[in-house]
Formats: sequence, structure tokens, C-alpha cells
Amino acid sequence: MSAKVAVVTGSNKGIGLAIVQALCKQFQGEVYLTARDVGRGQTAVQSLASEGLKANFHQLDIDDLNSIKTAAAYFKEKYGGVDILVNNAGIAFKMADPAPFSTQAEVTLKTNYFATRDMLTHFLPLIKPGGRVVNVSSFVSVMSLKKCSPALQQRFRSEDITEEELSGLMQRFVDEAKKDQHKQGGWPDTAYGVSKVGLTTLSMILARRLSKERPNDGILLNACCPGWVRTDMAGPKATKSPEEGAITPVYLALLPPGATEPHGKFVSDKEVQTW
Ligand code: NAP
Repeated sequence: MSAKVAVVTGSNKGIGLAIVQALCKQFQGEVYLTARDVGRGQTAVQSLASEGLKANFHQLDIDDLNSIKTAAAYFKEKYGGVDILVNNAGIAFKMADPAPFSTQAEVTLKTNYFATRDMLTHFLPLIKPGGRVVNVSSFVSVMSLKKCSPALQQRFRSEDITEEELSGLMQRFVDEAKKDQHKQGGWPDTAYGVSKVGLTTLSMILARRLSKERPNDGILLNACCPGWVRTDMAGPKATKSPEEGAITPVYLALLPPGATEPHGKFVSDKEVQTW
């Protein structure tokens, strides 16, 4: 039988690296640190090795469909699938960034929503029975959902929204942002927030689909917030260390065999949150 395997995206630094570090200590299987840049990834693998931790490396740029497909083929060939997938890779423009909102909307949605969706399209079929999928979203998704128009809120909370409808809404946000009409369209003024509304909603859609299409496989898929974490993204004033930020994603990644919940939820501090 193939060894068990865990894959973490965007794990050359920040919360992703701390998730790999914790999985190396707690997961009975092989752990893959992945990064879009091979040099940054290998440096991170070496930093773990200097702590006595063994992580494997595979290049993975979630913005690059070929990179996703190459990685998916590798894990299928070498391990027959994937046991744990943590979609951690994400970006955020700094508050002071002078890039126009239209650019911020397009670029942020591309990675945080559309590229993560591409990862899930190509990796979900590889998730083995009993597998765990964790999408690192943010508490900002809950705050931003509340700032959407009632009509949008209703769709994001509905149980019948499809992936196609959701992707259409995410694209509508980008298109309206380009015309500076997103506020009239019922959207909040935050590209990062909307991208994470999309990711949390997508997690709920895909969990329902797994329950329907693979009811006996016991796969659990959730979105989570790591908290406010001191990384290059959030800066030094944030309240949690990367190790503390990894706690909830790792808890979801290591939900014990036979567990039936949480599934399709948004989880923060190991607690299911209202969406
Ligand atoms: P970070 O320190 O900026 O790290 C982000 C990681 O994602 C880096 O490894 C980065 O790689 C990688 N990445 C970005 N685009 C990628 C792509 N296209 N393909 C592969 N990897 C890519 O940020 P962080 O704070 O650890 O954030 C990790 C996740 O937690 C993100 O999804 C973020 O939205 C979420 N989050 C963070 C906080 C917080 O307070 N920090 C709060 C809520 C949620 P490079 O080094 O190559 O850029």
C-alpha cells in the first residue's frame, strides 16, 4: 500500500510553513511542502531539516494550470492519490498599495478564488477515502459576507448555489470592479474579502457535492480562519504566531478516522462559526 501523503500549498513561509512543520510532527505519513518558487521552497525544506523535520518538496504554482496538473499527476502516480490537502496559498494587497481597485480585484480573485478552485478541480478526484481537505479562508469572509447586498448574501448562504453560479458571481465582481460599479452591484469595497467569501462558499458547495457523490468515502472538507497571524501578509502587530495560526488548519487536517464532522463548515479556533 502507498504511504499516506499530505500536501500544503504556498508553504515556503508564513502559516503554510507552520502547517507543514506541525504535520511533520503529527501526521503518520509523508508531508509535501510546495511553493511556486523552487528556490524559496527548497530553502524552507532545509530550514525544517535543521530542526530535524523531514518535509518533501514539489513545485506548485496555483496560478499556473500546468503546474497544478503536473503536481496532481505526480501524486496520483507516486501515492495513488492524496490523504490531506491544505489549500493555504493566498495573496493580499497591502493597504497602502497604490494599485487601482480594479487591478486588486482581478489579481486577488485570480489566486484566492479561481486558482484555488482550479486546485480543487484537479485534486478533489485524487482525495482518498478518509481524506481531509482544508481551505484556508479568513474571518474577513464572514465580515465581508455581511457587507454584501441581501440578495448576494442569500445566494452565498443558500444550499442550492452551484460552483458555476458562484464562479459567475466572482467574475461579476471583477467585471464590475473594472467599471467601478461593484458597490452598485451590492459588493463590499474589499477584493480580499470577496475572494474569501468565494472560497468559504466554494468549500460548502464542494462538501455537499462530496457527500452526494462519494457518500461512503468519509472525506471531510472545511474552510477555516487561522486567526490574525504575524506573517508577511498581516505584519508584526498581529496577535498570533505562525505556529498558533496553524492550529485550526492542522486540527481540521487531522480530524480522526471515522469522524463525520465538521464538514462543509467555516471553522475558527477549532469551533464551527455561523455563516
Ligand atoms: P504569506 O506569509 O504572505 O504567505 C503566503 C504564501 O502563499 C507564500 O508562501 C506565497 O508564496 C504563497 N503563494 C501566493 N501565491 C501563490 C501561488 N500562486 N502559488 C503558490 N503559492 C502562492 O501569508 P500568510 O499570512 O501565511 O497567509 C496564508 C493563508 O492564510 C492565506 O490564504 C491568507 O489569506 C490566509 N490568512 C492569513 C491571515 C493572517 O493574519 N496572516 C488571516 C486570515 C487568513 P511566495 O513566497 O512565493 O509569495
